[in-house]
Amino acid sequence: MSVSIALFTQDLRLHDNPVLRGALDSADEVVPLFVLDPDVAAAGFAAPNRAAFLADCLADLDAGLRALGGRLVLRRGPAAVATARLAEEVGAASVHVAAGVSAFAQRRELALRALLGPRLHVHDSSLTVAVPGALTPAGKDHYAVFTPYFRVWQQAPRRPVHRAPTAVRTPAGVGGEPLPAAVPDSPGLPAGGERAGRKLWRGYALARYDELHDDLAADETSRLSPYLHFGCLSAAELAASAGRKGGSGADAFVRQLAWRDFHHQVLAARPEAAHRDYRTRGDRWLSDSAEAEAWREGRTGFPLVDAGMRQLAHEGWMHNRARLVTASFLVKTLYQDWRTGARHFLRLLVDGDVANNQLNWQWVAGTGTDTRPNRVLNPLAQADRLDPDGAYVRRWVPELAALPGRAVHRPWRLDRPPARYPAPLVDPDAISARLRHGRGLD
Ligand code: FAD
Repeated sequence: MSVSIALFTQDLRLHDNPVLRGALDSADEVVPLFVLDPDVAAAGFAAPNRAAFLADCLADLDAGLRALGGRLVLRRGPAAVATARLAEEVGAASVHVAAGVSAFAQRRELALRALLGPRLHVHDSSLTVAVPGALTPAGKDHYAVFTPYFRVWQQAPRRPVHRAPTAVRTPAGVGGEPLPAAVPDSPGLPAGGERAGRKLWRGYALARYDELHDDLAADETSRLSPYLHFGCLSAAELAASAGRKGGSGADAFVRQLAWRDFHHQVLAARPEAAHRDYRTRGDRWLSDSAEAEAWREGRTGFPLVDAGMRQLAHEGWMHNRARLVTASFLVKTLYQDWRTGARHFLRLLVDGDVANNQLNWQWVAGTGTDTRPNRVLNPLAQADRLDPDGAYVRRWVPELAALPGRAVHRPWRLDRPPARYPAPLVDPDAISARLRHGRGLD
């Protein structure tokens, strides 16, 4: 009996999984493996919200594998060492893993290669729709601007979507540890796992995405980001499925998947962009810990900013438009280092992702790939545009819940402002002057 190992990482699914497919095609029996790596925790990536979501994902994957005759084996330790040890134990002729884009994933792949040599098979089309590094402008190793990337991305050939396997045979007697459990920080965290992700996608009103994706109160984006981050859903399968449905909603949604791919190909080529300015602009960030703390707590006195930060704390997730406004407020209005904000987001976001989080923060800070690095989002103009009736703010800021309509965005103008809500951290009338870094307002 030949044996292979499918090392699961950010691809915790049975459907359209090139790693599982590769392992199944190359041997009679497969050990589906997940390694809880202490280096992930040491780097701060095992934050409680994501640890809890991951625990759901692993339980769901195990249940799915058991229904097919297999099971998930969990080991602890440095991923490469634990995998190589298991490969010796079961006499695995091949080990299959998805290519990752972060510095951590790239190091893990090198370590696996060093221990396993030609037995290692790396599948590069698992995490994204287009393979990072496959689409490049002449003479460069990645695209630095989204629009030309998107143009070639749309035309690029796609691999076929794999069906879920119908049977998985796992050798008997392979020891593993109990699956993990974790308590999230956020009470409103969604349930993880492939089944939950597929149910969400099946029920999602994609046709209305284009019309409603900027409407904060409508809350009609897909909320698929954590399932994409952990690979409970395959981006390639979603793109194919949306493409079949067609229409302006599907087109706009697929464009967002391309943004995800775009950031992944930037990080694959520049893994140091997780910490360092992608394009430094000589910023001399202020360091005001009281202002940063007010921002983290959702007590800036700017209702839309505070609503976003409180949604983040409660759900471990925030609407994209609120992410843009809250991030811009920290880096452009308070002029604090983007790393301060990115760290807080990564502590709480259930979809917290090195490529998407760090590079979106850099985009907002003007140190990343935005072609208009001086762009500033005025939180008041954004509030009028994205939450015209104020319903999003009333949902997340209970101190303001009794204020009608858009008056909720400017409580300081009331004769008697709500006593429990803080005064604005920055003079709202002087906000343009306070936008130290920016030029035009959006
Ligand atoms: P939808 O609007 O339904 O979009 C579908 C999918 O497209 C998303 O699930 C996501 O995978 C992808 N997508 C959408 N917008 C973007 C984008 N701007 N960049 C990259 N991919 C995108 N996204 C994360 O997945 N993880 C993060 O850690 C993260 N941090 C962010 C930090 C900041 C400061 C900003 C401005 C954005 C960040 N985003 C991040 C991108 C975006 O906000 C989320 O992907 C989106 O809000 C998730 O909600 P959704 O699944 O309903 O998205």
